[in-house]
Amino acid sequence: MRNSRVVLAVGAHPDDIDFGAAGTIAKWTGEGARVYYLVCTDGSRGSDDPGMTRKKLAQIRREEQVNAGRVLGIKKIFFLKHADTTLVSDFKLKKDIAQVIKTIKPNILLTMDPSLYYSEKFSFINHSDHRAAALAAMDACFPLSRDRLTFPDHERKGLFPHKTKELWLIGFEKRNQLVDVTKTFEKKLKALSMHKSQFPDFPAVKKKVEETARYFGEGLPAGKQAKGVKYAENFTRIVIS
Ligand SMILES: [Zn+2]
Repeated sequence: MRNSRVVLAVGAHPDDIDFGAAGTIAKWTGEGARVYYLVCTDGSRGSDDPGMTRKKLAQIRREEQVNAGRVLGIKKIFFLKHADTTLVSDFKLKKDIAQVIKTIKPNILLTMDPSLYYSEKFSFINHSDHRAAALAAMDACFPLSRDRLTFPDHERKGLFPHKTKELWLIGFEKRNQLVDVTKTFEKKLKALSMHKSQFPDFPAVKKKVEETARYFGEGLPAGKQAKGVKYAENFTRIVIS
């Protein structure tokens, strides 16, 4: 699929996809893939700064995502601007995502894992917006973009059904696809560093991201002798038949 990859990456907030998949995405764009982002919320509530407003933060985070996208060679970023923390996987959200799918016709849809509520191993509760965005993206991918009678108004706009070949879910404990991102890991860190409003202590974030990538790297044998690679990202990959 080299050079013919068309990827739609769907996240809830600016920085979500960069956290989970920027190394893989930089690898793909470096190989000639066309990668698009769709960010469902405005990220307007993720700040402890007493002087910050929701309006100001939404604008800052949009710019940060655009800058990170530039680092990674993202072709276009779609922003749906739902209010941060209120995202629901309803039919309207699914329809909006299906519209983007029919517009860019990806062969890979990459998103987060809708079945992940929490991780004991990685010590976090998964944000409800992440689950909602991922579930809506999965449903939009299959079956909602597939059938012409689901959204007749799409057809009137010249948007026709599309079957996405693969679904990639950013993984933690679940996995069937580790990607060696050793060569693009610096780019991932650079993309993440663009999200300045989110990381007042970037060295601490960098350390955590490095530890996680190293952990996944150990699981990916690079050759007969090697025990693993330096850095990897982790996915559950579903090839849709
Ligand atoms: Zn998020």
